[in-house]
Amino acid sequence: MSTSLMANYGRFDLTFERGEGSYLYTADGERYLDFGCGIGVTSLGHAHPHVVAALEGQAKELWHVSNLYHIPPQARLAERLTAASFADRVLFCNSGAEAMECAIKLARIYQTSRGAPERYRVVTFRNAFHGRTLATIAAGAQAKHLKGFEPAVDAFDQVDLNDLDAARAAIGDETAALLVEPIQGEGGVHPATDAFLQGLRALADEAGLVLIFDEVQCGVGRTGRLFAHEWAGVTPDIMGVAKALGNGFPIGACLAREEVAAAMVPGSHGTTFGGNPLACAVGNAVLDVVLADGFLDTVQKNSALLVERLTALAGNKSVYTGVRGRGMMLGLECVVPNMELLGALRESKVLALPADSNVLRMLPPLTIGEAEIDEACDALERALAQVGS
Ligand SMILES: *Cc1c(COP(=O)(O)O)cnc(C)c1O
Repeated sequence: MSTSLMANYGRFDLTFERGEGSYLYTADGERYLDFGCGIGVTSLGHAHPHVVAALEGQAKELWHVSNLYHIPPQARLAERLTAASFADRVLFCNSGAEAMECAIKLARIYQTSRGAPERYRVVTFRNAFHGRTLATIAAGAQAKHLKGFEPAVDAFDQVDLNDLDAARAAIGDETAALLVEPIQGEGGVHPATDAFLQGLRALADEAGLVLIFDEVQCGVGRTGRLFAHEWAGVTPDIMGVAKALGNGFPIGACLAREEVAAAMVPGSHGTTFGGNPLACAVGNAVLDVVLADGFLDTVQKNSALLVERLTALAGNKSVYTGVRGRGMMLGLECVVPNMELLGALRESKVLALPADSNVLRMLPPLTIGEAEIDEACDALERALAQVGS
């Protein structure tokens, strides 16, 4: 453990040297099945050949120019993201928090541009996570993230997820936007119901509000559709994505429909690295794979298999009570402490993730097949025997 690093992370005593596909390898050759993908980042597995080739190719051409110039890989990635979604315009950045910060700023400047500058507040939902900047920790409103960093940015009103009446009641004359994760990730893999997302769309339309979806974790194929909100048949006005878009190369994006995006004019917002040629070359390579014919159908098929096995393994529910989530974004609601089950699973050489309120979270590569599902479930079975009563 390095004492030269700030102590803001709790780390497991494990160091990886190499990754390939669904596996990570330690220096002494131990192999781990990676059902965390970082935190939902390396969705196509480690060292995906097509993604590696794109990065290497771009690295030999051009690493960086500022956004004072045209950047063809950036324009191409924006065109493909808008062609595949509700959005008409994209602003690139480097992380999920920046994508959400941009989404919140865009909602404000849009309300100002249509003559309602008093509309600056955002309704958010209990257990939300939107990042670690000053604004996004206030949006998430979790005491453990705000502690020591107060005063919190006063611009957010939080109510329970899936409580449409509470959302309606939270809307006031100063409300600019509603902000929700279609499936909460850090907060414990809590899906917003389709009816709730549809209800938020209607509320936003009635009150002249901007509907923002945070798809930083659930987007880019994670749920078996390109974007999680597609399952609910509603579209937002603004959406943030990041994590899986670069498969490990830092990139974030804020997408919006034309009317809203038009509020951004030269000078409104910017970033030095956002839309960097390397990041965008990788983003394009990721889309090549995720948008290929049949890819997401296969993710859905394998997800059904995994969910079926995990549900069966819940057994008498003494260790976990069931499975929730969608696609390859799954949460096991634990009875035993989630870190105990996670540790036992790690001893069986499978990596997963914790999430809030005692959930074990699985974010496996979208590329897993039956063999990896069997391997993970066999390891889980051993872990259950170890921690179960
Ligand atoms: C991870 C995450 C973020 C923050 O992303 P960073 O890249 O860590 O800044 C925001 N929203 C959601 C839903 C996330 O899962």
